[in-house]
Amino acid sequence: MNDSYQTLIIGGGLSGLVVAHKLRLHNPGHRFAVLEKSERPGGVIATHCDQGYMSERGPHGFLDNCEESRQILAETGLDRESIKAPLIDFVRYVRLGGKLNLIPQTPGKILLAPLVPWHAKLRVLAELWQPVVDGEPTVAKWAHHRFGPALLPYLDAVFTGTYAGDFDRLTIDSVMPGVRALEKQYGSVLRGLLVGVLAKRKSGDAKTPFRMPAMTSFPQGMQRLPERLAEHLCPGRDLFLNTTVTGVQPTGKGWLVEASEGQYQAKNVVFAVPVNAALPLLAGLDPSIPERSLPSTWLATVVFGFKDTVKLPPGFGFLAPEVEQRFTLGALFSSNMFPGRAPKGHMVFETLIGGRRHPKRVELDDKTLTHKAFEDVREILDLPEQPAYTTVLRSSGGIPQLERNYPRLLAWRERFLGTRRGLHICGFGWDGIGLNDMMKHATRVSEALLRDTGTPRANVEVKGIYF
Ligand SMILES: Cc1cc2nc3c(=O)[nH]c(=O)nc-3n(C[C@H](O)[C@H](O)[C@H](O)COP(=O)(O)OP(=O)(O)OC[C@H]3O[C@@H](n4cnc5c(N)ncnc54)[C@H](O)[C@@H]3O)c2cc1C
Repeated sequence: MNDSYQTLIIGGGLSGLVVAHKLRLHNPGHRFAVLEKSERPGGVIATHCDQGYMSERGPHGFLDNCEESRQILAETGLDRESIKAPLIDFVRYVRLGGKLNLIPQTPGKILLAPLVPWHAKLRVLAELWQPVVDGEPTVAKWAHHRFGPALLPYLDAVFTGTYAGDFDRLTIDSVMPGVRALEKQYGSVLRGLLVGVLAKRKSGDAKTPFRMPAMTSFPQGMQRLPERLAEHLCPGRDLFLNTTVTGVQPTGKGWLVEASEGQYQAKNVVFAVPVNAALPLLAGLDPSIPERSLPSTWLATVVFGFKDTVKLPPGFGFLAPEVEQRFTLGALFSSNMFPGRAPKGHMVFETLIGGRRHPKRVELDDKTLTHKAFEDVREILDLPEQPAYTTVLRSSGGIPQLERNYPRLLAWRERFLGTRRGLHICGFGWDGIGLNDMMKHATRVSEALLRDTGTPRANVEVKGIYF
């Protein structure tokens, strides 16, 4: 039996590292340890540096519109290191009708742009009078019913860009619970949004000017974030690498955690692992758990370097909705967003392949992937015959897909945690899938640990959609 702890954190990805950082910061006497399966902390965040080119296996950045994330950057000094690409300056494109269409950054502006014909715009406004959709509709079915067909390709691009998902499978209750709540409460999303704006205006809140967020990363790439958070953790004392947790059991005084490297005891246990890694462990504690696994999607990234005489369109990059039937899901113009990611005189961009609709493509060999991705983007970008550099990256984890029955799993979690004092659950896929979601919910878990209470239920929020 290894030592006994106040808190054991299962998983040393961003979620687990944020919990550890907050405990150390706010109560240096709190005895905790992070148990991490792999040989390095950081989880799916992994920056790849090779021959002067920098690219990402996992996330490329996060928006600076989340209070908890801003606070973590300030606490760690990372706010002084971060680099930003403001959305207001960096447009994105949707590949539609065989060309790149510049997309305004909000659904409201898309509506005013000449991308959508007038009759379709009126149909969007008719949302005010559409009946509430019953059951658990998919995003595509729900959006078609409420707003008509015109916005569907753009919405498809949004969910391709965030979940690498299929909006014919993702459900609205799972991925946009705040928007769904507005529909149910006010009978219309537009009416609900309007009521919110008027209420803000009345309370004086609307005086704070709206600011478009900026995409945030670091000069050394996204890996800098977990590296900084893990800096104060001492391997063998409060960080155990190559340690896979295989089971958790209640004891009279708390919890017994069984791992590949031995057993640990603690008053509190935090599951800070992706939902599919948590479910088998949780099933050991409650066999009535409603799901044993969720679908997840995998991505391959093909990175292309060129001489900087090659000029890409200005902006972040583009996304291709499924109706276009393209090989790549889209591309990130990395050198436009964050300069300095290619050797002098060169530029780099990254193409994304796979996702929920095309899982087999990720299994193609590197040569085929590179060839197919290059042929695909050459049809839309002005590129020479041969790139100066290519590499293929595969992420170390899949992206959980929040589809049918996911709300049932969240409801189960609430009931389950209500009767299991000292257990907390956050991590990839539990409360959203983005880096900001992870930092926000790991912060909530750490606050509950410091207060010695259960994690309170999160408020349902309406999140902005940004391309
Ligand atoms: C390809 C890809 C691109 C993405 N792009 C973006 C983006 O651009 N912007 C954005 O906001 N988000 C993006 N995301 C999502 C973002 O990366 C995640 O929200 C976040 O990194 C999840 O952190 P986590 O700590 O919860 O999970 P993870 O990073 O998965 O970390 C969990 C850790 O737990 C460990 N573990 C698992 N099982 C066990 C066990 N039994 N015992 C011990 N340890 C265990 C794992 O080894 C891992 O280190 C992307 C994700 C992927 C996969």
